[in-house]
Amino acid sequence: MSKHHGWSRKEGLSSEPMVRMVKPWKGQNEFRRQLEFVENRAKKNPIKGRCRCDFCDQGSANYTLSFQGVQWSGALHHAVLEHNVRPSTQFRNWVYDMY
Ligand SMILES: [Zn+2]
Repeated sequence: MSKHHGWSRKEGLSSEPMVRMVKPWKGQNEFRRQLEFVENRAKKNPIKGRCRCDFCDQGSANYTLSFQGVQWSGALHHAVLEHNVRPSTQFRNWVYDMY
C-alpha cells in the first residue's frame, strides 16, 4: 500500500499510475477545487510507509483518503497542484459527481 498511486475503488479496479501533463490541463483549477471539497469530507486512513509523489521527494503522505467506497492517494492533490497530474476521466467524473 505504500506504493499506492492514483485511486481505486475498493472492489475491482486496480490503482492507476499518475499521468503528468506538460502544462496545466483544461479544467485543472476547477478539478482542484472539487477535489478539495471532496477531500475535506473524506476519511484519512493512516498507512504504514507513505504514498509517494512520483515526481519529487516533497508531498508524500502517510495516509490515503477514502469517500463513498473510493480510495485515493494522499499525495494526489500535491501531484495535481505541483506536477499537472491529470487523474483518469473516470476519477474526475466521480469527483465532479460528489462535488
Ligand atoms: Zn511532487
